[in-house]
Amino acid sequence: MNAPQSAPYQHLVDGRSVAASTGETLPMIDPSTGAVFAHIAAGTADDIDRAVRAAQAALDGTWGRTPAAERGRILQKLGRLIEDNVEALAWIEAQDTGKTITVARNDIRVTARYFDFYGAAADKLHGQVIPFLDGYSVSVLREPHGVTGHIVPWNYPAQQMGRTIAPALAAGNAAVLKPSEDACLSCVRIAALALEAGLPPGALNVVTGLGEIAGAALTSHPGVNFISFTGSTEVGQLVQAAAARNHVPCVLELGGKSPQLIFSDADLDAALPFVVRAIVQNTGQTCSAGSRLLVQKDIYETFVARVADAFRKTRVGTPAMDLDCGPLMNATQLGRVQKFVADALASGIPLLAEGLLADGLPSGGYWTKPTLFGPVPRDHALACNEVFGPVLAAMPFDDEADAIRLANATDFGLVGSVWTRDGDRQQRVAKRMRCGQVFINCYGAAGGVELPFGGVKKSGHGREKGFLALEHMSITKTVIHRHG
Ligand code: NDP
Repeated sequence: MNAPQSAPYQHLVDGRSVAASTGETLPMIDPSTGAVFAHIAAGTADDIDRAVRAAQAALDGTWGRTPAAERGRILQKLGRLIEDNVEALAWIEAQDTGKTITVARNDIRVTARYFDFYGAAADKLHGQVIPFLDGYSVSVLREPHGVTGHIVPWNYPAQQMGRTIAPALAAGNAAVLKPSEDACLSCVRIAALALEAGLPPGALNVVTGLGEIAGAALTSHPGVNFISFTGSTEVGQLVQAAAARNHVPCVLELGGKSPQLIFSDADLDAALPFVVRAIVQNTGQTCSAGSRLLVQKDIYETFVARVADAFRKTRVGTPAMDLDCGPLMNATQLGRVQKFVADALASGIPLLAEGLLADGLPSGGYWTKPTLFGPVPRDHALACNEVFGPVLAAMPFDDEADAIRLANATDFGLVGSVWTRDGDRQQRVAKRMRCGQVFINCYGAAGGVELPFGGVKKSGHGREKGFLALEHMSITKTVIHRHG
């Protein structure tokens, strides 16, 4: 892969690979070993300022005049370049995040698909003509916001980049991306590939570094016209406050505590692998992880026993071992997950099953086992709060009304699933669940590039993915022409 980076990984600003203004770097830690394996530029407010200016200059120059169809061609070419480099990018992603190589390969393919999808859609974002008074013509134009700021987390760096950057560029914005300090190498590589694909310098800039320095500088920069953030509820609040101070719109995607509802008439053989994968995949570090297993009480014992058996067979290993999941992201995550488990045990909640750690794992890695608890009291922290680890909380429910009450009982509302053979109930429950996506007799959706996604309540607001993201990444202007 022809990327201009050499260690340490540098920012990509105005089409050039540059060091931090201070020359300082941050170590990158391999979650499987706990060892430093690379360094990144430690971005500053000055670096962010340079990137925002470069983005504005791109809008004032070539990029701002590039027709939508040409923008689309460039993005689709980037999608092909990512596909051509799946293997190299997947290993970068796997080492950076600890995820299994199969998941990493899938992530990179989904990333390519974002650029392909939004590239194909770029020239299909049309305005409207509105019939109005005699002697008038009214058109509603769709225009880019301008400079868009994007902050993505460490759990799916490449995918999250594709998800937020591809629609932004397709809609004609120029972007500044601040990926997570914990995992950002694939983002820097993909930005370099974007130049190869023909994206003009400055249309996409990547500044690496700490959230509280580079991230905060980006969200408060007066030259940024739109903010897209994925991460924790707490930082989401800071981002929204910063956006409010500058009067700019923002999309927030903040995680969840998503329920998987299993009714007694469900196809349990079909449900079982989905239930396990929804929480074990990516070591539970997925905003849409199915972290609450709600089972109708007459089948609770038997179905949860089957889930426990499946949990005991899950295996944790390095990316190259390619088992069910890898390590957690960092020492903070490990401490967080261990605290949830310890608190649940101290509360006397039965630990029903644990997965296995593979033999010979590096001792410095952030290892944890998939863990099943149940029945978890409805008001316990494990039933209400996001663990962001492979810990599943099982709870029984009485009937449909109770299931809906329980499904909606947390502060979050990102996704949910309902498993039942009753078609009327499928629709009733889907309509009453307070969340942004409902899966009926399935969970997760192969990346779901074309499916609008986002939350309600503390899971955030605004929508990503699908055509709706293009609409969010643009703004209308109504032009009223009196011509007599
Ligand atoms: P954060 O919210 O801290 O990080 C998400 C992104 O925001 C990162 O790029 C981070 O940069 C950046 N950031 C941090 N502080 C600021 C700031 N003040 N202003 C602007 N940007 C900032 O999440 P964590 O990594 O700390 O994870 C903590 C918890 O958040 C997890 O356990 C999980 O519950 C939740 N989470 C949810 C995710 C989701 O997909 N919805 C993804 C990740 C986390 P940097 O990493 O460099 O600090």
